[in-house]
Amino acid sequence: MNTKAVFNFASMQNYFDSGATMPYEFRVKQLKAFKKALENFEDDLCDALYQDLRKNKAEAFLTEIGLLMAEVKLAIRKLSSWMRPKRVGTNLICFPSNNRLYPFPKGVVLIIGAWNYPLLLSLAPVIGAIAGGNCIVLKPSEHAAASALVIEKMLKATFSENYISVVQGEGSSVVPALLNEHQFNHVFYTGGVKVGQSIYELAAKKLVPVTLELGGKSPTIVEKDADISVAAKRIVFGKFMNAGQTCVAPDYLLVHESVQDQLISEIKKSIKTAYGKDIKSSNDYGRIINKVRFETLVRLFKNSISDIVEGGEYDEDDLYFAPTVVKNISLSAPLMQEEIFGPILPIFTFSTRKEAFDIVAKHKNPLAFYLFTSSKAVENEWLRQVSFGNGCINNTVQHLANPYLPFGGIGNSGIGGYRGIYSFKLFTHARAVMKTPTWIDPAIKYPPYGNKLKWLKKLV
Ligand code: NAD
Repeated sequence: MNTKAVFNFASMQNYFDSGATMPYEFRVKQLKAFKKALENFEDDLCDALYQDLRKNKAEAFLTEIGLLMAEVKLAIRKLSSWMRPKRVGTNLICFPSNNRLYPFPKGVVLIIGAWNYPLLLSLAPVIGAIAGGNCIVLKPSEHAAASALVIEKMLKATFSENYISVVQGEGSSVVPALLNEHQFNHVFYTGGVKVGQSIYELAAKKLVPVTLELGGKSPTIVEKDADISVAAKRIVFGKFMNAGQTCVAPDYLLVHESVQDQLISEIKKSIKTAYGKDIKSSNDYGRIINKVRFETLVRLFKNSISDIVEGGEYDEDDLYFAPTVVKNISLSAPLMQEEIFGPILPIFTFSTRKEAFDIVAKHKNPLAFYLFTSSKAVENEWLRQVSFGNGCINNTVQHLANPYLPFGGIGNSGIGGYRGIYSFKLFTHARAVMKTPTWIDPAIKYPPYGNKLKWLKKLV
């Protein structure tokens, strides 16, 4: 594929090199234009989300448009302080110099979005890249096609194409072509691990820095001292929103054996409260993105022998998969071999914490980790034990609503975090600059060294 036909990289690079994107006034104007565009296109964006994922308008606001609004408002409010050079300390040998970090935009950056939160995952990094003073090429996911088109329409109507361009198409051909044909200054990718690895390899050939926002099997632990009815409500919320297609959804539950029955009964109640008796006709429950993902879910479900506690129904014509909870399932069942990324929740019990730690350790470095407990000591024990990207105590998924928290994985679940100031840092390079006055110039660091070594050892 020749991407030169769909956008002009050279004109974007020239625009960046002209310095047009550097001033505070320019960036804040673009952020304000972005906010206005989000308001103007809100209905179109919601319609597209409904078309792609049958997303309810309130859920669309809560999990996508509202978060983008909070993100862009924060960036507008904080931009001048983010851009200000930051003073850092000085050691004795450098005395009396002044040391500062000067953020500088990366350049022309490539952002590759995923389909499950097609607005948030494409546009939240765009906000950070604008704040950082970059030019942006955005590749939304082809699987959320309606959303991808509205995103393009919105950005085209708001920004010049030598500043922000949108490239559509099959990721497997478009993205390698983009990376091979052009010298981007940063690549920001959200999606699965395998594709993430291939993007990392392509970028490495040109030494392009990479952020990878990947997935993984995020565990949810329910200890015996947890508030069970609150835990159930928050687990159901995090697991079944967007029909389970959330990178930070609780993937599986580990519950203390003494409270399993109570938790299951509360989970059933919470599902009924949230989606009613006839879930298929509920306005609040989404659909699986496409047939390929639907078939994967059915295969994982059918091939994992278990007792169905709730749900288990599906309808391919409607891409409907009911909120499903299963127990008495083997840890080696297919559902436990990959990220489920759908509305199926396997429950396992534990009697000792060591048993639970060992299960969590089978899927290293999850993107998210959730723990329900009322004990600070138990909380500390878990936090000391598990490496994970981000998470909640006594909650699920909600941490994404806070733009003051960085969002990102570790190891298998990704490289780098973003949102708020962390996006600004990601899309800029902190130039470290030392400024030394000329009115004094201690001789200690210059040859001849004579017997200066013992002093140098104290000063360096
Ligand atoms: P996807 O299919 O939408 O792919 C993501 C992007 O990669 C798309 O823009 C697509 O065009 C592009 N792409 C696809 N194939 C490609 C290839 N061969 N080469 C280069 N680019 C290619 O998304 P997905 O992979 O189905 O996403 C699901 C995974 O993403 C899950 O594991 C989920 O946990 C993870 N995810 C992570 C986050 C996060 O923020 N960490 C968010 C959402 C999803």
